[in-house]
Amino acid sequence: MQISENKVVTIHYTLTNVSGEVLDSSVGEEPLAYLHGAGNIVAGLEDALAEKTVGDKLDVTVAPEDGYGEKHDEMVQKVPVDNFDGVDNVEVGMQFMAQVPWGEQPVEVIKVEEDGITLDGNHPLAGETLQFAVEVIAVRDATEEEVEHGHVH
Ligand code: ZN
Repeated sequence: MQISENKVVTIHYTLTNVSGEVLDSSVGEEPLAYLHGAGNIVAGLEDALAEKTVGDKLDVTVAPEDGYGEKHDEMVQKVPVDNFDGVDNVEVGMQFMAQVPWGEQPVEVIKVEEDGITLDGNHPLAGETLQFAVEVIAVRDATEEEVEHGHVH
């Protein structure tokens, strides 16, 4: 069965950056199941998997615009320390959900200073060229409910 819209696809993958550093991998863990055509995985990887079948192995290089997007400087903001009243120790690397005009999004503390705390709302992999090594483990038809929900059950 070939991968196309509304198939549930199970893959093993290893994600590295351009320096060859492993950022994420399913190998040795549960493989990843996603609904093809629903935007569950980054666009560049989803496109490359179209028409592939069980047992296929592929190496895919995904540019930032087909991955997690470019880094946006305006998503890095310094906010007053008062905003963190109630948090005992604000440290670099902490993540919070922040209220932004279009809803809620995760932000990471990247700098702590006496006069303010700098938050980065970019996806941690924004601006990165991603390299995926992928093996297709299984392909099946999605159920009606899965298609309706836009994800795998
Ligand atoms: Zn559901």
